[in-house]
Amino acid sequence: MIAKIEPFEVMEILARAKELERAGEDVIHLEIGEPDFDIPKKAKLESIKAIKEGFTHYTESKGMPELREAIAEYLSSNLDLHISSDKVLITGGVSLGLLYSLSTILDKGDNVIVPDPSYPCYPNIIRFVGGRVKTVGLEEDFSLNIEKLKENIDGKTKAIILNTPSNPTGTYLSSRELKGITEIAEDSDIYVISDEIYSGLVYDRKRSPSILEQNYEKVIMLDGFSKLYAMTGMRIGYAVSTTEIIEDMDKIQQNLYICPSSISQRAALASLECERDVEYMKRKFNERRKLVYRKLKKINGVKVIEPKGAYYIFPDIRKICTDSNKFAEKLLEKEKVAVTPGKAFGKNGEGHIRISYSTSIEKLEDGLNRIENFISQLSSQTVL
Ligand code: PLP
Repeated sequence: MIAKIEPFEVMEILARAKELERAGEDVIHLEIGEPDFDIPKKAKLESIKAIKEGFTHYTESKGMPELREAIAEYLSSNLDLHISSDKVLITGGVSLGLLYSLSTILDKGDNVIVPDPSYPCYPNIIRFVGGRVKTVGLEEDFSLNIEKLKENIDGKTKAIILNTPSNPTGTYLSSRELKGITEIAEDSDIYVISDEIYSGLVYDRKRSPSILEQNYEKVIMLDGFSKLYAMTGMRIGYAVSTTEIIEDMDKIQQNLYICPSSISQRAALASLECERDVEYMKRKFNERRKLVYRKLKKINGVKVIEPKGAYYIFPDIRKICTDSNKFAEKLLEKEKVAVTPGKAFGKNGEGHIRISYSTSIEKLEDGLNRIENFISQLSSQTVL
């Protein structure tokens, strides 16, 4: 029997965009959720070296001790905490970290609270491991209302998933907000799973506040190398939690995956020394972020909140069109610009589109001009 899991819908717009490109169309991709930069050179050379040395066998299931140690040190110094390496598990990306976390803590019939809008895979993975999903709609400014969160917790709630900075909104939670959420979690004795994959990609500080700083036991923090080091294809990430949870997650890893890729682990270890590459990428992302925000703000009918992290912006297009799927489809067909419909991120994402600014300034200028053109034509003729 094939297990029931929903498709990752975001990939469908990409498929249509590719089809148009094969037919010779000049498509601007603003839907892609990965950095357009190359892997840092040092990490690239290290993976080649690993292969040349024959470092192509299984490693310890929890990951190479040197890498776990280096991540523990990196987090300890960046967050001004003491984190020991026995609290770190290397995973095949945050994706597997999510699967292991939820498989470890959920019992049949448990529910997990997920902000809406948020990363579409959360509900799919929760259901895949037998849990139920409870969504909490974010406010107009994309903040999480603590009272609403509290009201949604019931006797069967096992955890809340946070994503800070957020895909798709680009906002991140302040230490005060994290504190408020942690207090509620503590009162209800539930876990906080905090997906911090974009934590290093914030533009007004070095990194966004981490749930680890809240000093709460029932926390699983997930982060990885896909975004900050432009290493999406290397499939490498990590989880930080209590040693007991890490031991349990490791048992799942041993059975499902044996260990993360040895080559990717070597690349990850080297990437931790690639601060300058990261600074370069962040500078570029920041320039693009400012441009996209400035241009969107000028488009009539579009409401936009300045994003502070990740490389996404999530404009509200409700004054123009309430059906984000239709908007995205027509925009692609008419102007050859691919964006992700907000509905893909939850009911509350409807009436928005997600624009990813992980492409060049020139392409962004062109893409935004085409969007503006598309919207201005909507007022003069019926396009939708
Ligand atoms: N979490 C979020 C919020 C994401 O946006 C993504 C990828 O887009 C992932 C997790 C997947 O991360 P990884 O490549 O580490 O599996």
